[in-house]
Amino acid sequence: MQYYDSSVVQKVPKLIDYFQKGITDESKNISHCLLLWGPDIKLQCELALEIARLLNCKEDKSLDCNCLNCKWIREQTHPAIKIYTRLDFKEADTNSSDDEDSSKGKRNININQAKSIINELSISSDYHRVYIFCDRDEDGNLLPLNKINFPEATSNALLKTFEEPPQNTTFIFLTKDKTDVISTIVSRAQSFFVPSVISNNGDYSLVENLITNYWMIDKNKVLDIENELLIVMTDNEPKEVFNQIQNYMFDVLVANFNNKHLYYRVLEDLRYVEEAMQQVTLSKMNLQTVVENLCFKLFLK
Ligand SMILES: [Zn+2]
Repeated sequence: MQYYDSSVVQKVPKLIDYFQKGITDESKNISHCLLLWGPDIKLQCELALEIARLLNCKEDKSLDCNCLNCKWIREQTHPAIKIYTRLDFKEADTNSSDDEDSSKGKRNININQAKSIINELSISSDYHRVYIFCDRDEDGNLLPLNKINFPEATSNALLKTFEEPPQNTTFIFLTKDKTDVISTIVSRAQSFFVPSVISNNGDYSLVENLITNYWMIDKNKVLDIENELLIVMTDNEPKEVFNQIQNYMFDVLVANFNNKHLYYRVLEDLRYVEEAMQQVTLSKMNLQTVVENLCFKLFLK
């Protein structure tokens, strides 16, 4: 399956810009453990591969660079860039005749796979190794990591490696929600919310007057805001309204990469909005209850 897509640069320009600057400028520190989260795993993988390209390019890192590293990454034949899923691993010590069959029913990235990664990393490499962890189905559609396909035992086996990786090695985890990955990994990784492009034309006109600088809102006004938000949700598709709140928050994130306190707060808030959206769209919870809870979390914490 072909996952590299150079149009990722247009889809998430601010994130690309962030990584480009961070990778080019030695004084900026991009973590060697990155956790991407959001609704669109394929887009996350495109971003991860572009990060891998920026890390490995030996020339000017431009989008049309034709150095060998860039070429390999575009063709997905680069020897040091790997997409690890539970299905992309053959048990080295298996005696059963058919390896392909043995991977078919495989539920998770297991300890053997972890051990083989550790072994592989013990040999030095001339490239910047980028290991992308996610899941996929038999048809190659990418799926997010969760605690079943990337269980605690595997994470624990790799924890030390994630903590102190060999030089020039970056791990990237693709998830829908940060809570889907065990906390010991989350706490070691730098997290980035990757917005869904389909729902994200960046618009937040429906909610702009309600949530602009929401972290500074006068607590006495919260009840009014809650009521107005409920009206907007009733007059429009709730999902669209939640998306617009996320759009606004994403803009705040991008403008505040250096304001760590606000950045992490908004990152957390994005998750509350995602949860609220799922409660309404998937669990069919009462809209008013969900909006009340969300407002409590966003405005009164
Ligand atoms: Zn290049």
